[in-house]
Amino acid sequence: MLCLSLTGSNCEISLSQYEKHKEVIQLVELRIDYLDSIHVDEINNLLKSISLPVIATYRRKRDGGLYEGPEKARLQVLKDMLDLDFTYVDIEDDIKRLDLEDKARGRSIKIIRSLHDMEKVPKDLFLRIMKLHKKGDIAKIAVMPRSLEDVMMIFKVNKELKDIPDKVIIGMGEFGIPTRILYKKTGSLFTFCSPEGEEAASGHLTPEIMHDLYHADRVNENTKVFGIIGNPVMHTSSPKIHNPAFYQLGLNSVYVPFLVDDVRAFFQLADLLSIQGFSVTVPFKQQVLPYLGKISREVKLIGSCNTVFQSNRVWKGVNTDFYGFLKPIQEELDSQRIRTALVLGAGGAARSIVWALRNYYCRVVIVNRTAEKAKNLAGMTGSSWRPVEELGSIHDIDIVVQTTSGGMSPYEDVDPSLGYEFTGKEIAYDLVYKPKNTRFLTRAEKAGCRQICGMDMLIAQGVLQFESFTGFLYPQKKES
Ligand code: NAP
Repeated sequence: MLCLSLTGSNCEISLSQYEKHKEVIQLVELRIDYLDSIHVDEINNLLKSISLPVIATYRRKRDGGLYEGPEKARLQVLKDMLDLDFTYVDIEDDIKRLDLEDKARGRSIKIIRSLHDMEKVPKDLFLRIMKLHKKGDIAKIAVMPRSLEDVMMIFKVNKELKDIPDKVIIGMGEFGIPTRILYKKTGSLFTFCSPEGEEAASGHLTPEIMHDLYHADRVNENTKVFGIIGNPVMHTSSPKIHNPAFYQLGLNSVYVPFLVDDVRAFFQLADLLSIQGFSVTVPFKQQVLPYLGKISREVKLIGSCNTVFQSNRVWKGVNTDFYGFLKPIQEELDSQRIRTALVLGAGGAARSIVWALRNYYCRVVIVNRTAEKAKNLAGMTGSSWRPVEELGSIHDIDIVVQTTSGGMSPYEDVDPSLGYEFTGKEIAYDLVYKPKNTRFLTRAEKAGCRQICGMDMLIAQGVLQFESFTGFLYPQKKES
């Protein structure tokens, strides 16, 4: 069940949150600690307007909630709530109040026994869940993973306790997001989400993202897991490329972002979750290489890999950036209208781009903020390089490719091409895809250049990834 936490400061706002999202959720949690003042009649009316089961939760600050008052008053409110038509009540594990439990059971309100650790994943996670479970209630544990090893521990414990149906195990924060999306895969009863901009707990996604993008409620034991690894990773648009295509083709697969701090740990997690394939973004495109059993010709050439998938039981690495970059300019390359290129940047992406251009016999000049890296890449690829200060003296260029992170949020003010004089005849190709109108492209547009935004390449490389992952052609958009 996808559970929406209602975080309104009054019942009216909470009701509007429910109304807005009710089509995509199956359960609601009323966060009483978010209400400015508690009026039993209003809460009663709210419950009458909600046609889904509702959890009563009155969360203390130390457990990630807003309540800071005396404990006695909090428990009295919770007890009063048991006169109303809640389906569940959340009682923290340390609360020893038989009267509260007896009242809930007497009214057939199911108890969720919850335990929160806002700092870490406790080492005895397994025992703690078993202890909660033995009380005969729904065991809920929300912990804070600080590394991918911690995330692995959550998945492991979840897997070991697969036969206990009445449990919820959640990893909070950015590391924990896969545990929220894949809750059904490992047997958690429900997962939580919040209205946009109203995150009730760190790592909550919106109901629409959980339902429309990840189809989290359709995931089951047999769902094939794909994903993207990076650090940072949550800004990625790749789930929007892969998940709708899985859905359109009726494939029982999901594509999930994994925040990674250690590539080795990720390969272990990939074994645990039987991950079938994944995209690789900054800073891991080179770090994955030692873990691959097979690599394609272009990975060997470039020394960087953005796509990894299972092939005959070994991990195979390919580089779809290489081909994805070429797609929007294929015609110009084939007809040799592009013969000279200026490449701005000398990082991981630049390596693919320079090799792709060199493969078409283009003459390439590389300019990078750190001149040494430009020099090295030029040496490796048979290109030339120039220091940034000499941008103004570079002429006769058919295409300028901007491969740096300059221009990408939060560096929107940066234009790494400053100093270069556009003639209007060049193609201006920016790898940055967020925002679409970078300073680099705006300046090129003013000069009359044809512009290509990074989104075109992102989609092209994603389509190729999809085909490597699934063996299916990427589906055409349905006609509306
Ligand atoms: P990377 O390996 O970290 O390299 C970053 C490059 O950007 C380096 O050359 C670095 O110069 C330069 N740079 C960073 N900040 C700069 C600034 N403020 N001013 C000037 N230069 C700056 O990263 P990457 O993998 O090459 O990725 C670079 C960009 O390409 C990212 O924005 C990424 O999202 C984008 N990308 C897009 C696609 C797509 O499909 N559209 C695919 C791959 C990558 P120094 O050497 O001096 O540090």
